[in-house]
Amino acid sequence: MGKLLIVGSVAFDDIETPFGKSDKILGGAGTFIGLAASQFKVESAVVSVVGEDFPQEYLDIFTAHNIDISGIEVVKGGKTFYWKGKYHNDLNSRDTLVTELNTMADFNPIVPDNFKNADVVMLGNLHPNIQLGVIAQMKERPKLIIADTMNFWMDNTWDELMEVIAKIDVLTINDEEARQMTSEYSLVKAAAKIQEMGPKYVVIKKGEHGALLFHKEHVFFAPALPLEEVFDPTGAGDTFAGGFAGYLAESKNISFESLKNAIIHGSNLASFSVERFGTERMLELEKHEVERRLMQFKELTQFNIELT
Ligand code: AMP
Repeated sequence: MGKLLIVGSVAFDDIETPFGKSDKILGGAGTFIGLAASQFKVESAVVSVVGEDFPQEYLDIFTAHNIDISGIEVVKGGKTFYWKGKYHNDLNSRDTLVTELNTMADFNPIVPDNFKNADVVMLGNLHPNIQLGVIAQMKERPKLIIADTMNFWMDNTWDELMEVIAKIDVLTINDEEARQMTSEYSLVKAAAKIQEMGPKYVVIKKGEHGALLFHKEHVFFAPALPLEEVFDPTGAGDTFAGGFAGYLAESKNISFESLKNAIIHGSNLASFSVERFGTERMLELEKHEVERRLMQFKELTQFNIELT
């Protein structure tokens, strides 16, 4: 069983979609990553920070999914990170209405001793200095370091972000952000430029249009499953990352072929996550459902052309 270390926000989310409002519910990138990774045979830990207002029953959800919470600091008298977002009618775009960093503003990640030798490290979308702080605490170089980021860090902390990028193996990023990072419209050219900055692999997420994996001259595409029910896309990217990292930590096989499987697993789990508000669907997800949908992924992409 591989060891997976995750750093990411553990939060209260407040979501409005065309189908309804969630009120304040469990969210955060670290939460979605951890829950997705728990579908695999891995020993995982989430490093994060919450306030005293964070309910014990939410922490118990992590523990119930075999996620080590000794790296989740609970700040006495502090308030938990709060994020409020509203989706537009097509669900492809959203407005962030509120971001209250609260305890996240002074977050100083502490990696639990027994995870300083993790095989895989998944750095969720956070300030690059926090991501660097986690890498610096590892006793030995993990087999694989994956990082997620977003336009906000490109706009505000470019130099620190470039330091992170130089130290990682896989960058996961969405298509618009890849274009912004490289000033290239073509995603093929953008991925090549990002590889020159450090990571050997680049995963470009295209939301409901799937994800692309780039490595040298190789490209692989995982579609997103066309779904009847898309209810709340919050956390889809993080769930994708959790499935990706969880699969690789379990398999301990870091090759292009293995990363291809990893982006299919990531897309598969993300397809469940969007079916209900927040983490709801992931919390009731059963193995047979995951396996059935993996078969649908296979069918979606298989065809029988014979070249003569
Ligand atoms: P995604 O839909 O994949 O972009 O992820 C949404 C999750 O990211 C929500 O659960 C939020 O709590 C969390 N989030 C939003 N903004 C931030 C931020 N600035 N830093 C860390 N986490 C955030």
